[in-house]
Amino acid sequence: MPFRDVIGHRKLVGLLSRSIERDSIPPSLIFAGPAGVGKQLVAISSAQALNCLDPRRSHSSAPDAIPFDACGVCPACTRIERGLHPDVVVLEPGDSGSIKVDPVRDVIDRAGYRPFEGRRRVVIIDQADALVPQAQNALLKTLEEPPSSSVFILVSAWADSLLPTVLSRCPRLRFHELGPEEVAAALIRSGKKESDAHAIAALANGSIGQALDDSADTLVDARDVALRVLTRFAATDDLGRRVEAAKELLPQTTGGAAADREYVAVHLRAIASLLRDVELVSVNGDRRTLANPDVESSLGRLAAFNGDRGLHAFEAIDEALEAIESNVGVKIVTDWIATQI
Ligand SMILES: [Zn+2]
Repeated sequence: MPFRDVIGHRKLVGLLSRSIERDSIPPSLIFAGPAGVGKQLVAISSAQALNCLDPRRSHSSAPDAIPFDACGVCPACTRIERGLHPDVVVLEPGDSGSIKVDPVRDVIDRAGYRPFEGRRRVVIIDQADALVPQAQNALLKTLEEPPSSSVFILVSAWADSLLPTVLSRCPRLRFHELGPEEVAAALIRSGKKESDAHAIAALANGSIGQALDDSADTLVDARDVALRVLTRFAATDDLGRRVEAAKELLPQTTGGAAADREYVAVHLRAIASLLRDVELVSVNGDRRTLANPDVESSLGRLAAFNGDRGLHAFEAIDEALEAIESNVGVKIVTDWIATQI
């Protein structure tokens, strides 16, 4: 995918485009940032821009201009997209979950030769934090003095867990979470219905990867459960009934401690996103920025959460999410939520 079609990350993409245009791209780079925001995609876009047979140039002076970009359709671009270009190598963890030293030695050996077809050989190491220490050590010399025709891109959501010796040799580009509207745009492009796309994007934590996951439909379900629970909270002060209502936030059958925590966290984030929308409606904000526009008509039932109560509830959700992260039991957290919201 050419740079111009990448959703979000305009600054980083512009920076990469300019450095490729000026032939000044650093020979080893780390793409760091949350999972599923498009780091690997931008690495492929960079490989295309470096090897495209018919690159596009733009002389726009707009701040987010992309001065140099791949065409996206020439044989080099299409082969890179399909993973079939001889000079663009993608290493990723094997079945063991780690990247062993042998495949790394292999790409290092190959990097010593001139590219077969393209201008630059591009070695992309996806989930680079999975490199075993021995493999990272094998890379050190190459990262320090890479062959002039090669570019190494290490992609990682956990870059800090790489060896300090690796980190110190590679400039780091930091990718950030995407906004809900950017995630929604990506979902619509991938064929989701517009209303579903907005609901899923509101809960996807800024990650297209998370939103495109098979479990995306569970995000829509979570939002519906959150709406029901909040409506019941709004209707009663009886603690017993509230605790009963909060049970809906728990998985019906346990999927193990980690999965249960994630299940409850998704539902709590759904509540937070609804509370944000209630606030937006109550202050007559711009409806186009609603995270859950498809349930706008139901938000009126939650008017009890206007103002201070909503704000307090929002803070409680934040605390609850923190508690879940520090391994407090999920039932304790949902009971506590019943007393706070
Ligand atoms: Zn091309």
